[in-house]
Amino acid sequence: MNSIYINGAWTKPVSGQTKAIENPATGEQVETVDYGGKEDALSAVKAASEAFESWSSKTVYERADYLRKLADAIRENSDELSKTLIQEVGKTQPESLGEINAGADQYEWYAEEVKRSSGDVIPHRLENRRHMTIRHPVGPVAAISPWNFPILLSARKLAPALAAGCTVINRPASQAPLTMIKIFNIMDEIGFPKGVVNLVVGNPGECSEVFVADDRIKKISFTGSLEVGQQLYVACASRMKKISLELGGHSPFIILPDVPVDHAADNAVFAKYRNMGQVCISASRFYVHHSMKSAFEQKVVEKVSRLKIGNGLEPTTDVGPLFEKKRVDDSLRLISDIKEKGGKILVGGKQPAGDKYSKGYFFEPTVATDINGDMQILKEEPFVPIMPIIGYETIEEVIRMANDTPYGLAAYAMTNNLKWATEIAEKIEAGIIGINDCSPAAAQCPFGGMKKSGVGREGWKQGLEGYYETKYISFGL
Ligand code: NAD
Repeated sequence: MNSIYINGAWTKPVSGQTKAIENPATGEQVETVDYGGKEDALSAVKAASEAFESWSSKTVYERADYLRKLADAIRENSDELSKTLIQEVGKTQPESLGEINAGADQYEWYAEEVKRSSGDVIPHRLENRRHMTIRHPVGPVAAISPWNFPILLSARKLAPALAAGCTVINRPASQAPLTMIKIFNIMDEIGFPKGVVNLVVGNPGECSEVFVADDRIKKISFTGSLEVGQQLYVACASRMKKISLELGGHSPFIILPDVPVDHAADNAVFAKYRNMGQVCISASRFYVHHSMKSAFEQKVVEKVSRLKIGNGLEPTTDVGPLFEKKRVDDSLRLISDIKEKGGKILVGGKQPAGDKYSKGYFFEPTVATDINGDMQILKEEPFVPIMPIIGYETIEEVIRMANDTPYGLAAYAMTNNLKWATEIAEKIEAGIIGINDCSPAAAQCPFGGMKKSGVGREGWKQGLEGYYETKYISFGL
């Protein structure tokens, strides 16, 4: 299958290599795609660079028109895109449709927001001067995105970059490129001018080396792990290249004692098992007040035991498979570490039995208690379906525990007590705080992390700022 789109045409990789794409629910091969490398990345850089002048010279109204058409087409094709997303990532139907809509929202919202991104006229101190600022797009951008939300996380970069007047090269994750290939087919039908949008599915190290080293690329926008993000940050520093980083998280979920246990348990189950815990803002540490801890544990065990595990193509499935074998291995490793260090598994903890599950990367949603700070699950970002429950007594204690991590992406709290909610919102070190809201991400709101969770923000007007230079013009009269 074609997977390299450069200068308005599908092209074959210079190396002639291909890559098999696997369905995590069946272990079967879904597709074989072209797999590019250094030479293809270089051709994409040339195309994006040559298209920049004419794309950035278009009016914002012209550029917004392309984005609006793309948003509409994504929504019109949502059924087909959803099927592909389920097959390559292992999502359920509601999860995949939710992602597709959220991706379309990005293009729609930036088509509107860019019309309001004006410069300023600054009052002059000297009578013979006049000062103003205008927005200038940073230039061609390389957008590198991970596998867990292929459409949405590429859209968070492409939508504001294109709106601002930048041309783009998207390099989606090699293991899950199929939905972005479909999005680029849609872009081709819409008729984006040649070289404005380019797609290179290919070797991550080779492609990013080109993007970092080539001075025609003016910015790298990366979403992925802390480890790879740090490598790119260092590499960009030596070239003085702009980079924005959306990295991992380890999000606390705090349940305060005023909340009904059943309601808290419903929200906790949603926050943990959406996408099987493979979301950067997944709740990953559950702090429950001692007065309600055992009642909460009983409720979540009941609810988790009822979750239907299966292939996302079946409409009755509540939770799909994990994305790859590594995620199953990580789950098993973290569970044995919990057990060895004195923790208890209340439900789950293993791969489900039965023919239906034998070929995919299925895992039982797991709840664990008697957790302590020595356990690995509190130390590394757990991209797994395990809910570790930890008791606490005072709000000061829980805020201290919640902040005891190098990450600072998201945090959640359930309470109707205004004083507690305010204290948590103000003192927790995280870029996104959901108070009684377990899915706070939205195109019109800022998304990104404090501490080691990233540099910069996507979404909202800050997402657009990341693709502009401010140009100050002074007139002497
Ligand atoms: P990853 O870092 O392994 O891969 C991310 C992207 O980088 C992929 O396209 C991958 O092919 C590419 N890549 C891998 N090695 C590279 C290299 N040496 N040089 C350049 N590019 C390279 O991450 P992943 O496993 O795909 O995704 C999961 C991680 O992403 C988690 O840590 C998760 O928290 C994070 N994430 C963050 C956000 C956010 O918005 N903050 C959103 C989703 C996922």
